[in-house]
Amino acid sequence: MTIWIDQDNCDGCKRCQRVCPYEGIALMDGVARVTDRCTSCGACVEVCKNEAITSDITPRAVPDFSEHKGVWVFAEQTDGVLADVGLELLGKARELARDLNETVSAVLMGQDVAGLCDTLAVHGADTIYLVQDPLLKEYRTIAHANVMETLVNNYKPSILLIGATALGRDLAPRVSRRVGSGLTADCTELSIDVDENTEGSKILWQTRPAFGGNIMATIANRYSRPQMATVRPGVMEKTIVENVNAEIIRISPTLNEGDIKTRILERVKELPKGTDITQANVIVAGGRGIKGKEGFEMLGKLAALLGGELACTRLIVEQGIMAQGSQVGQTGKTVRPEIYIACGISGAIQHRAGMMGSRYIIAINTDPGAPIFDVANWGIVGDVHEIVPEMIAQLSQKGSLS
Ligand SMILES: Cc1cc2nc3c(=O)[nH]c(=O)nc-3n(C[C@H](O)[C@H](O)[C@H](O)COP(=O)(O)OP(=O)(O)OC[C@H]3O[C@@H](n4cnc5c(N)ncnc54)[C@H](O)[C@@H]3O)c2cc1C
Ligand code: SF4
Ligand code: SF4
Repeated sequence: MTIWIDQDNCDGCKRCQRVCPYEGIALMDGVARVTDRCTSCGACVEVCKNEAITSDITPRAVPDFSEHKGVWVFAEQTDGVLADVGLELLGKARELARDLNETVSAVLMGQDVAGLCDTLAVHGADTIYLVQDPLLKEYRTIAHANVMETLVNNYKPSILLIGATALGRDLAPRVSRRVGSGLTADCTELSIDVDENTEGSKILWQTRPAFGGNIMATIANRYSRPQMATVRPGVMEKTIVENVNAEIIRISPTLNEGDIKTRILERVKELPKGTDITQANVIVAGGRGIKGKEGFEMLGKLAALLGGELACTRLIVEQGIMAQGSQVGQTGKTVRPEIYIACGISGAIQHRAGMMGSRYIIAINTDPGAPIFDVANWGIVGDVHEIVPEMIAQLSQKGSLS
């Protein structure tokens, strides 16, 4: 299979280059040329308005999705308490819906959970699909997947977002398989392709770390609906919407205990280990530059004076100095404090993935070229073992800031 470009007809508009996912087109001397990275996927053929691109590939037809409308969020709840991630996703869903000129819906399942609708409305839901049934009292994969599958097939959303919690990670792939859609897990950014010049206009761009976190990949689903993504807690921000008047659509599901296959015999709650860094306003985080437990005791003093919590990089967890619950990053927690003080942290992309939402980032590092300085609001080039004791001394004189 081959792609040809008729250079006499090419005006160098770059449309083909923009849609090519593989850098298969380069512009040379103002005209497009096919490079050896072309995989013959065919995505560029249709976009050329000058009909300069020909191929012997049968392009994959994009189905008609005109019936699919709206951005949906799965509103996870347990024992009548909404998971924060659902509310955070409603905030992001509003942004996406604005770019699509569509509306936001929440899907709420459970028993006696109608009282949660107000909270969903305040956080951005225009419509709430309320599904109440005794068989939905506790989360069970088949029951919840059956309901979601039916809703998706009946109401045809364009986008479906689910929190990447233990529950969401169980539900999302099951639903995506059943409705014949793809799923992008653990997205760190979601946006709408609003470029009217590209074929993929109004498609959901789903960005997530790939290849061990070494690059950020943006994934688009052109050929099926809904476009499904999961997002970890803390990655998106909640918004509050005033004067809301959400429509509640009550759904009576058809569920049979016999079809559900699982019974919950007992639930054992894991006791929280240490503090919850995701709720902290101030975080003092340490990396390999701290060199050992004593250094972390020093950071603990600084955190206490600032009324904050102590956190760390993955290397510190691997060294057994701090518990996994204190790790910030792609495979740790996502935090959004007002102040994040990164001490002796290089700022690897996997660490930054968990702290970029911090309001102010202060970095202390001996290496002026450390990537953490690229994202810091204030950078101090120097030895943490000199700078932090000085900060502690000065704060101790003034008293705690908390
Ligand atoms: C799939 C995958 C997932 C990952 N997930 C995570 C994750 O969730 N979270 C995470 O943190 N990492 C994660 N990592 C690891 C990540 O790639 C980095 O290796 C790690 O973040 C580096 O930790 P660090 O900054 O403590 O150490 P280093 O990269 O070794 O940096 C130490 C820094 O300290 C500075 N320094 C040294 N001495 C001093 C001093 N006296 N004063 C001041 N500065 C000093 C150095 O200049 C250096 O910049 C992941 C890796 C992979 C492959
Ligand atoms: S889309 Fe067509 S005209 Fe535009 S650069 Fe590509 S080949 Fe040339
Ligand atoms: S066929 Fe696919 S890979 Fe090749 S140039 Fe076109 S878009 Fe790029």
